[in-house]
Amino acid sequence: MTTDRTDAPFIIVGGGMAGDAAARGIRMVEEDHPIVLLTTEGSGPYDRPPLSKDPLASDLAERVDRQTSSEGVDVRTRARVRRIDRKGRRVVLQDGEALEWRGLVLAPGARPVVPAWARVPDGAEDLEVLAFRTLEDARALAGRVEEGCVPLVVGGGFVGTELAAALAKSGHAPALAYPEDAPLGRVLPDPFPRLMARYLEGLGVELQPGTAFRSTETLASSAPEAAPRRGGAPGGV
Ligand SMILES: Cc1cc2nc3c(=O)[nH]c(=O)nc-3n(C[C@H](O)[C@H](O)[C@H](O)COP(=O)(O)OP(=O)(O)OC[C@H]3O[C@@H](n4cnc5c(N)ncnc54)[C@H](O)[C@@H]3O)c2cc1C
Repeated sequence: MTTDRTDAPFIIVGGGMAGDAAARGIRMVEEDHPIVLLTTEGSGPYDRPPLSKDPLASDLAERVDRQTSSEGVDVRTRARVRRIDRKGRRVVLQDGEALEWRGLVLAPGARPVVPAWARVPDGAEDLEVLAFRTLEDARALAGRVEEGCVPLVVGGGFVGTELAAALAKSGHAPALAYPEDAPLGRVLPDPFPRLMARYLEGLGVELQPGTAFRSTETLASSAPEAAPRRGGAPGGV
């Protein structure tokens, strides 16, 4: 963080858990000074980890909300920072608005990697790929599942495995594809991946071990049997 004593607010770029923690940290030492938090998302900071544990919960948004604005923070949603003017000590937003800062915190996090094979070519309306990271992604997934789509979860790491288990426990058992022999095979030692495979199968998840996608066509052919043509394929990233 760079600092300078002016009347300008503290500006936080990023509405994730780090952005929220920064706001609370500043508030502990600056009781009244204005703090502006900018996020590209449609809601203020929230806890991301619960998203993959209970993605279909109807009260998900309320449960994960970190209530950052209750700390007297001006939370601005759908506000993308396009440029940082270090000399002028201001950030410039996508819509051209410029905001000066007294102190600037950068907490822009990360975005899911969407590999080339998961990018749906024009005209392939029967295949939809959702990356899974945000509250909006969870809402989109819930919408597809309610329409009757059977998802193919791609990725047997923590997020993909949690997502598959949570969907199955909600009565919407998906397929789960991963290149390893068992889910969590890359992150946990034996026997845990084998135990996890047994657990997921018991929940009704269709396991697809040894699956490394190379093209959108192979992705489409892995869609679960029961999937309607417009099946969702959330990336467990
Ligand atoms: C589904 C899921 C489950 C997870 N489960 C766990 C778990 O169980 N345990 C665990 O330890 N970790 C878990 N994680 C990881 C953990 O959630 C992340 O490490 C954490 O959210 C990172 O927080 P962050 O604030 O640094 O970044 P992010 O959460 O990525 O937030 C970055 C924010 O910056 C904003 N932003 C980016 N660019 C700009 C810009 N130009 N202008 C304005 N705003 C911008 C974005 O809109 C976003 O709001 C999980 C992650 C996911 C997605």
